Amino acid sequence: MLKVIDSAVPVACWACSVAHNDSTLFCPHCSKIQPPPESDYFQVLGLQRGFQVDLDALEREFHRLSRKVHPDRFARADENERQWSLADTALLNDAYRTLKDPLFRTEYLLKLEGAEIGEEHAGKDRKGQSDPSRVPADLLEEVFELNMQLEEMRMARSTGEIDSVLENGLVLAKKKFESLLAAVDLDLRTEWKAWDTGDAAARKTSEKSMVALLDRRRYLRNLVRDVTETLGA
Ligand SMILES: [Zn+2]
Repeated sequence: MLKVIDSAVPVACWACSVAHNDSTLFCPHCSKIQPPPESDYFQVLGLQRGFQVDLDALEREFHRLSRKVHPDRFARADENERQWSLADTALLNDAYRTLKDPLFRTEYLLKLEGAEIGEEHAGKDRKGQSDPSRVPADLLEEVFELNMQLEEMRMARSTGEIDSVLENGLVLAKKKFESLLAAVDLDLRTEWKAWDTGDAAARKTSEKSMVALLDRRRYLRNLVRDVTETLGA
């Protein structure tokens, strides 16, 4: 059973002044549209906070709310309400896109929980690939080998030579790294479950594992991309 974390703050409705939960887009008392809530995406879409999401429920709630806040419905409303319908629509779209995608969702929830995600690596993937300190320890040898193969392949290409042994080697390496990537995704799923059903201590452990898995995933994805590019060149 999932735990419900409700950190939503009650606020007073601008129209009727009755207090309501900040995560709602409409006042439950007078039904007027409310300014975009500060609540997290899970609360906005009426989902329990967790890494495993009921995608059907997500879809349903997103469409239901999107219809309700649609700017066409507020064409004749006052300026504030029109602005809020636009802002609520944008918020719903962001929330939906983030929670629907397993990786975006994982990163989002980890951040919500205060975990530090390895963003220092983002943007310097290209440069970082030759930095041996970033290579996951268990892959050091294979990555070293792969980089040599890639270098040879690029040289062979530049001189117009076709080396099918080298090429086959790279195709195999690509398969190998792709299967490691798939293994990371399986491990992530295991951690999702552990977090969703775990107590506070289990959750902390699980968050750490997920941050490490995301790092590893990013690294492997870049390797696969490099091999694909070199093979396709
Ligand atoms: Zn109201």
